[in-house]
Amino acid sequence: MEIWIGTTNKGKLAEMRPLLEKAFPELVVHSIEELPHYSQPPEDGKTFLDNARIKARSVKVMKPGVWVLAEDSGLEVEGLGGLPGIHSARYAGPHARDSENVAKLLKMLQIRSVANRNARFLCTMVAFDPQGNEHIFTGELKGVIGKNPVGQMGFGYDPVFVPLGETKSMAELGPAFKNKHSHRAQATLILIDKILSQNKL
Ligand code: IMP
Repeated sequence: MEIWIGTTNKGKLAEMRPLLEKAFPELVVHSIEELPHYSQPPEDGKTFLDNARIKARSVKVMKPGVWVLAEDSGLEVEGLGGLPGIHSARYAGPHARDSENVAKLLKMLQIRSVANRNARFLCTMVAFDPQGNEHIFTGELKGVIGKNPVGQMGFGYDPVFVPLGETKSMAELGPAFKNKHSHRAQATLILIDKILSQNKL
């Protein structure tokens, strides 16, 4: 019983893996980092769904009976017209670090004097079951962008994202919060229900 996840993002893996392993203790969770000849496809889609599909299709595991999945996710800020959106990972440049993306986001909000800091994280997950059927799962988490980065946990924009109803950033709230409420956890939990209902692991 295996599932292959099309990501090299350690933060994403650290969130999805425990949810899957808790639901299916006998499951072996692999990532594409284990595939010796894997080459990352260009994420040139126009939507989260396009890019999730590109990533899921790039995972070529020549084994029967496995699930394959990938997700594309990002942050949309209302006062920036939905940016950084699908460009979240590369907002400050093609190989930008998380801290550089966060710095650019805060700078854009400041130089444009943006008052509306409402934001949401979106996750679109594409999974192929052992029969090759495609399934799509989504998750959304609303919040606001804080004035400064706070907290050490998580990745990406977590230090500046304060979920709705919370006073701390997601980087302070950590895995206990994200594994229940994050956009990615939501999509993963729907995937788990799907696997259970198909009983096809
Ligand atoms: P991609 O899906 O690999 O193209 O990149 C998603 C990017 O969106 C990440 O590199 C982060 O910058 C941002 N992102 C997605 N999900 C999260 C999250 O849970 N916390 C913080 N940032 C996130």
